[in-house]
Amino acid sequence: MGGYFMKAISDLLALVYPEFCYACSQSLAHGENMVCTTCRLKLPYTNYHLLTSTENPLANRFYGRIDVEHAFSYLTYVRAGRVQNLLHNLKYRNVPEIGELLGKWYGSELQKSGFKEKIDLIVPVPLYYRKLKKRGYNQSDKFAKGLSDALEIPWSSQVIKRVAESSTQTKKSRFARWQNVDKLYSVTQPEEIKERRILLVDDVLTTGATLEACGQELLANGCKSLSIATIAAA
Ligand SMILES: [Zn+2]
Repeated sequence: MGGYFMKAISDLLALVYPEFCYACSQSLAHGENMVCTTCRLKLPYTNYHLLTSTENPLANRFYGRIDVEHAFSYLTYVRAGRVQNLLHNLKYRNVPEIGELLGKWYGSELQKSGFKEKIDLIVPVPLYYRKLKKRGYNQSDKFAKGLSDALEIPWSSQVIKRVAESSTQTKKSRFARWQNVDKLYSVTQPEEIKERRILLVDDVLTTGATLEACGQELLANGCKSLSIATIAAA
């Protein structure tokens, strides 16, 4: 009777507050959660994790810039479409659950490819404290948590922090630049990353500069290897 009652309540709530797909805005069918079945079928999956590292275009983009073991992105970033809608809801419409959902879906794909055995710790790219306070959550933390749940690999948002707001050097004195005090990220728990294979995760990859800066800091502090995964890559 309890189950029947709860079902009746949820059906009634769905009539009053219909739920919509965060990717296409169509109303969700019973049993669908956040993303409709059509969108789930039609999302532009990269499937980079099925390619060798020489075939993988994302890995090639880091070549010569930073030593990356694996570079994956769940989706191809497409403007004015499903991917942009998902990311917009995740970052600006207070729907952190999208990050976790996509992390779980991607994590189970990576798990099938044996990726679980290749990583020791998942680390989300941190936000500067002011931005974190404004948004209330770090969208990359949510993606990391979803991946962690599916892959059964621990994640931590405590090992590295963002220490500067902007990468522009215009306001820095020449002396400050010379001293290299303008770095964006700083490892706060070096013992947690030492000799470990790190998967650094972020929401969107455009130029790759953020992942590169954050990854360099992890490598400089003794992680064994660095891999990268994002929700979407442009
Ligand atoms: Zn949809």
